[in-house]
Amino acid sequence: MPMSHAFKERLFPVLPSITSHYGTPFHIYDETGIRQTGAAVKTAFAGIERFREYYAVKALPNPRILSIMGEMGFGFDCSSIAELRLSRQVGGRDEDIMYTSNNTSLEEFLEAAGDGGAILNLDDISLLSKVPVLPELICFRYNPGERRTGNDIIGTPSEAKYGVSHEQIVEAYRQAKELGAKRFGIHTMLASNELNYQYMVQTAAMLLDLIAEITTELAITFEFINIGGGLGIPYKPGIAALDLSAMGREITALFKAFRRAHGYEPALYMESGRFMTGPHGVLVTTAINRKEIYRTYVGVDASMSSLMRPGIYGAYHHIDVLGKEGHEDSETVDVVGSLCENNDKFAIQRTLPKIADGDILIIQDTGAHGSAMGFNYNGNLRPKELLLGANGKVELIRRAELVEDYFATLSFTPDVLSL
Ligand SMILES: *Cc1c(COP(=O)(O)O)cnc(C)c1O
Repeated sequence: MPMSHAFKERLFPVLPSITSHYGTPFHIYDETGIRQTGAAVKTAFAGIERFREYYAVKALPNPRILSIMGEMGFGFDCSSIAELRLSRQVGGRDEDIMYTSNNTSLEEFLEAAGDGGAILNLDDISLLSKVPVLPELICFRYNPGERRTGNDIIGTPSEAKYGVSHEQIVEAYRQAKELGAKRFGIHTMLASNELNYQYMVQTAAMLLDLIAEITTELAITFEFINIGGGLGIPYKPGIAALDLSAMGREITALFKAFRRAHGYEPALYMESGRFMTGPHGVLVTTAINRKEIYRTYVGVDASMSSLMRPGIYGAYHHIDVLGKEGHEDSETVDVVGSLCENNDKFAIQRTLPKIADGDILIIQDTGAHGSAMGFNYNGNLRPKELLLGANGKVELIRRAELVEDYFATLSFTPDVLSL
């Protein structure tokens, strides 16, 4: 199921009032749904002594949404200076923030270590000597290469640019310990939009095995394992959702077994983005043109600058036409934006109810990696973001970009270098 039935029931009846007040296009997020998913995640891992979700800020970097995450007790996973500032702006302090980056610059380390601190998740051994001040708590991002757990190969992480290799991982902690680190955590992120929960269970099992091995070698214990994000959502109708309860049950059992064998259990951290907010957002846009050439094109007032997943990944996003759900009179169309780029299509050869100019289209599952991936190519501007509050009110949580914003970087003091 894409967008839930409950979200539809909350949104569709009031959508005409919202579109006439705010105009289209906009992304709108469902606070009730976000809180329900947050509660479900906490319930799934309630059997683990210390569990914490660090919301992947890049998925939906809006302070209002991040505040909701903070209210639910979640931390923030950041990978840039702007994301750190956003997280601190909503009250994230010290170990509320996990700084996971790759190819990290000194500026980023300074910002992460600065005002308030953050858990540093180091992507390479060489960074140990580049961190301005080595914190007491050190975490490494682990890349298992072609390692197997049980009978399964966990993807092909050997081709990924992230993390410390299997051969280097013990040495990484040895060096951190020698340099004075006192507390340790470990992180990995091996999945993306994965609907098979067992993949996450295998990841947890792999990390628990690994920390036991490192403990044997170096006599250090681990405060946490972080299994990353990557939990999937069903973008297409008819696809089963990830079984969160089973994932929670099986990972909890692994933690209890670890406790029996080692006398303690680490905390479990997760840094899910898509799963937390993806299904709880939609892009609302108006049909403004219709064109019949070799195919029928429905032109809408949003473009891929508001949602680039279909354009870059060929991703499917389900579309409803307001007031025409389940209409008999359907046709096959491409739904397109206005960019001079043939990838600027929200749907290709999709069967939809017959659309007329002025119809409202609801492009679904844009609550993660949607607005956040927006861009300005072709001078297109990013749309506003709204929140459908749990109190039944609608709130503007980001204004639309203006032409003035586009021109802002063209306003500067002249700086010419004569050579
Ligand atoms: C992107 C990312 C996430 C979130 O991924 P989702 O697929 O949205 O769950 C978490 N951690 C890291 C390090 C990431 O790069």
